[in-house]
Amino acid sequence: PVLNVAIMGLGSYGTRVAEAMQACKRAKLVGVISGTPSKVKKWQSTYGIPSKNCYNYDNFDAIKDNPDIDAVYVITPNGLHKDQSIRVAKAGKHVICEKPMGINAQEGQEMVDACKAANVKLLIGYRMHFEPKTVAVIKMRKEGQFGDLKFFQGQSGFTIGDPNQWRLNKELSGGGAMMDIGIYSINGARYMLGEEPIWVTAQETKTDPVKFKEGIDETIQFQMGFPSGAVANCLSTYNMNNLDRFFMTGSKGFVEMQPSTGYGPIEGRTHEGPLTQPHITHQTLQMDGMAALIFDGIKPIVPVDGEEGVKDMKIIDAIFQATKTGEKVML
Ligand code: NAD
Repeated sequence: PVLNVAIMGLGSYGTRVAEAMQACKRAKLVGVISGTPSKVKKWQSTYGIPSKNCYNYDNFDAIKDNPDIDAVYVITPNGLHKDQSIRVAKAGKHVICEKPMGINAQEGQEMVDACKAANVKLLIGYRMHFEPKTVAVIKMRKEGQFGDLKFFQGQSGFTIGDPNQWRLNKELSGGGAMMDIGIYSINGARYMLGEEPIWVTAQETKTDPVKFKEGIDETIQFQMGFPSGAVANCLSTYNMNNLDRFFMTGSKGFVEMQPSTGYGPIEGRTHEGPLTQPHITHQTLQMDGMAALIFDGIKPIVPVDGEEGVKDMKIIDAIFQATKTGEKVML
């Protein structure tokens, strides 16, 4: 079967997902949820979406009576994800939610619990878990080709523009660069090393307290320790451009990727040479992969479920705590 998806939030990333879905074999864009009638009209004509599959933020609970929609992809500001995802679950539809899944681990856990209670899937938009070069590196790591892993370095950032956007509004974003882009280094450290951290330390610097208000982090450097003894050293920032780099080394080899999590193509090399897997639009692979997961139980190399999302949120909570206290936070 084909996964029939409605997109909630017709902004820049929602548009990217919609375009990528045109090339999907197993997932189809069939509906929209939006507060802006003019956008709905445009999407209807661009993607051939029937009026009966168009909803707004007040009436989308009625999606429960619409058998033509299997799943809703929540692509709105982070601070709205939890309530919207829970409403989708209560309507009996599978939830695909963008990262970060919410604004803290407690919200994430509430989402997991609500989806479990409603007997629907909760999947988080971790597109890198389907990306061919990333998948190849994870396979190499699982086969032991890097030997005992020692160190991961992740650098994730860009210079953010418009000071009035929701990403710089704590209520809607839940935080600054960490929620938005630093999460790639957190998630990356976990899928590259294949372990869960047991402690974090973190240091925050802020050069522009007017643009980056209280609760909106500009730059955070953070470290994570893993049970094997491996360590990670990462940088999350809204104040440096083109920062998208992973490096990992073990007793037998290394990998470096730059860009490592951008929309691609991802580029990199290991001790054995360049990564040559083909570039395929990440969101196309992701949506086909999610359909295969929902219908056939075919699991991606690293989970994309709600529990995976909560793991990242717990680490973000700990990083924020560490920046405040200056102390090592145990997980
Ligand atoms: P955006 O601002 O371009 O779009 C957000 C959409 O939400 C807009 O259409 C806006 O109208 C709508 N919206 C609904 N209620 C709103 C409200 N109360 N306030 C403001 N906007 C409201 O943002 P985006 O870049 O599309 O990001 C949306 C989500 O997607 C975020 O959670 C972000 O982290 C995630 N994202 C993920 C990736 C990825 O690669 N996985 C990339 C970009 C964004």
